[in-house]
Amino acid sequence: MKADGVTEPRNLEEQAQLLIGKDIYEILIKGYTEKQWGRKCSELPAFIIKRLPVRFVHDNNYFNDRFQGIPIGGFNKLIDGLLEGVNVKLNTDFFDDRQHWEQIAEKVLYTGKLDEYYDYRFGKLEYRTVRFEEEIFDMPNYQGNAVMNFTDAEVPYTRIIEHKHFEMFGDDVYKCPKTVISKEYSAEWKDGMEPFYSVNNDKNMSLYQQYKVLADQEPNLIIGGHLAEYKYYDIAPIIEKVMSLPI
Ligand SMILES: Cc1cc2nc3c(=O)[nH]c(=O)nc-3n(C[C@H](O)[C@H](O)[C@H](O)COP(=O)(O)OP(=O)(O)OC[C@H]3O[C@@H](n4cnc5c(N)ncnc54)[C@H](O)[C@@H]3O)c2cc1C
Repeated sequence: MKADGVTEPRNLEEQAQLLIGKDIYEILIKGYTEKQWGRKCSELPAFIIKRLPVRFVHDNNYFNDRFQGIPIGGFNKLIDGLLEGVNVKLNTDFFDDRQHWEQIAEKVLYTGKLDEYYDYRFGKLEYRTVRFEEEIFDMPNYQGNAVMNFTDAEVPYTRIIEHKHFEMFGDDVYKCPKTVISKEYSAEWKDGMEPFYSVNNDKNMSLYQQYKVLADQEPNLIIGGHLAEYKYYDIAPIIEKVMSLPI
């Protein structure tokens, strides 16, 4: 069912109704999206919802990819292996000693916020962050799966992650008598918080373009990733992008 009279969606609300109709939009999308972004669906750009696959078959995967999964042992193990023998400095903010890093590097691959790189000279970009509230329960199984989304506006968190289900399946879940869950509360990003999602509305996109013009003029600077490019990336596309970088 298409939303009445809408052919060219102007915002997320119109786009969602065009894709899945008013009823499913109101049950599944509206409350969750407004919690996630802290903005009304009618004030969010249409393209955000376009990355959600809509299928009319019994396939409950989020992605359409043929091969899906997470690395055995988790991402830390994978990253440790990839970085073996590489000189890595952790807990080091680029801006604490920017001059030093720029002097020793032929090229800088910058994955932080682009507005910060230029000292916010045109103004600050907006981001969303997530506050995680962890709980440990004396029970082997809390919700029966890794991710439960709460789509109604009344529940203050967007989803609950039960971590053991990423690694343990079937009866193995019950071999461990406890379980850890994280509730995810979406919030507006402020200084000192970790920026998780760019807010790609018209205002922020035109501000970002001003910074991008500056970055394009620097031959020794490569900007990459969801912060420096101010766009949402899933993990696979950002890895693909890194592999094709002109370094
Ligand atoms: C809650 C949440 C759940 C997600 N779930 C999924 C999922 O299920 N599947 C999926 O495909 N994707 C998921 N994503 C998206 C995934 O996290 C991103 O695709 C991926 O992290 C993007 O990689 P990146 O290199 O662009 O950025 P990041 O992984 O954020 O890397 C940027 C790096 O730059 C560093 N940095 C920034 N500023 C500075 C500075 N000033 N000095 C030094 N270092 C700095 C940061 O510390 C960070 O290590 C999720 C994202 C979030 C927030």
